[in-house]
Amino acid sequence: MTRIFSGVKPTGHLTLGNYLGAVRRWVEVDQHRADALFSVVDLHALTVEHDPARVRRLTRQAATLLLAAGLDPGRCTVFVQSHVDEHARLSYLLECTATDGELRRMIQYKEKAAPARAGGRGVRVSLLTYPVLMAADILAYGTDEVPVGDDQVQHVELTRDLAVRFNQRYGHTFTVPRATRPPVAARVMDLQDPTGKMGKSHENGAGIVYLLDEPDVVRRKVMRAVTDSGQEVEYDREAKPGVANLLDVLAACGGGDPEVLAGAYPSYGALKKDVAEAVVEVLRPLRERHAELVTDPGYVDAVLREGAERARGIARPVVDRAYRAVGL
Ligand code: ADP
Repeated sequence: MTRIFSGVKPTGHLTLGNYLGAVRRWVEVDQHRADALFSVVDLHALTVEHDPARVRRLTRQAATLLLAAGLDPGRCTVFVQSHVDEHARLSYLLECTATDGELRRMIQYKEKAAPARAGGRGVRVSLLTYPVLMAADILAYGTDEVPVGDDQVQHVELTRDLAVRFNQRYGHTFTVPRATRPPVAARVMDLQDPTGKMGKSHENGAGIVYLLDEPDVVRRKVMRAVTDSGQEVEYDREAKPGVANLLDVLAACGGGDPEVLAGAYPSYGALKKDVAEAVVEVLRPLRERHAELVTDPGYVDAVLREGAERARGIARPVVDRAYRAVGL
C-alpha cells in the first residue's frame, strides 16, 4: 500500500492556506487511499526565535484541528514529531549526507535567514538544516508520496537527492519519495499582499484567515482584501493577483472553475461577499468539531499517544537499518 507522510509546523495558528492547500486533501483523499501519517512537526518550530509555552499550545491546537478537520485515527496516523525520537536520530545521519552548499540554496532558508541576520539575533544552525530534518521525517517512514503545497516542493526534491545518495553510498536503505500537489488552490495568497502566500508565521494577520476565526472576523478580512483600482472581475494572476486569489479561494471552497466564476460577478464587492460566505461555510463544521474536542482532552491525548507508538514502530527498523548501513 502506498505510504504517505505530511505535516504542519506549529509556528502559528493554522490558516485557510494550510487547509485548502493541504489538510483538506489529506482528509478527503489521502487517508482513504493510502497508509497515511500526518504529523505536527514541532521540532521545526524551533528554527527561529520561539516562545516555549506558545509552541506547546500551538502544537496541541494544530493536532486538535487536524482531527476536527476530519482526519480519522481509525484510518490514518496522527502524531507529534517530537514524541518519536527517530526523526532526530535519522536527521543526524542525513546531515552527514547533505552538503552545506545544497542547503544554502534552499529558497526558504534564504527568505528566513536574511531577516534573522538583519535583526541581529543570528541565524540558528537548525534553520539551515531544517530541510534535512524534513528529509528524515519523510524517509523514516519509507514514504512513497508527500502531499505538499508549492512552497515545499524544493524540500522534497532535496529529500529525493539525499535518499538516492545515501542508497548509492551505503546500499539500498530508503524509499525515494515524490511530491504530490493538490489540483486546486495549491497556493492561497495573503489577502492584504496577494503577491505573497497566506503564511501562518507572517506578522500581518489582517490578510490571513485562520481556521478558528469567528465568522464575522472572516467576513471582515475578506471584505477588506486588496484587489486593484479597476472594476472588472477577471481571472488574471499577473495583472489582478488579488482578484484571482479570491476567485481561486471561491473555486476551492465551492467547486467550479475560477475563470468561469469570474464572469458571474458584476463587481468586486459581490465577489467578496460570496467568497466570505463560502469560507465561513467551509470553516463552520471544523470550528464546531474543534470546540467539542477541546472539551475532551483525554481523547486527543490518547490519539496522539497511539499515533506516536504506531509511528515509532514503523520508523525504528528503518532508522536502525540506516545506522547499521553507515557503520554504527
Ligand atoms: P506554513 O507556511 O503555514 O508555516 P507549513 O510549513 O506548516 O505551512 O505547511 C503545512 C502545509 O500547508 C504544507 O503542505 C504547505 O505546503 C501548505 N501550505 C502552507 N501555506 C499555504 C498556502 N498559503 N497555500 C497553500 N498551501 C499552503
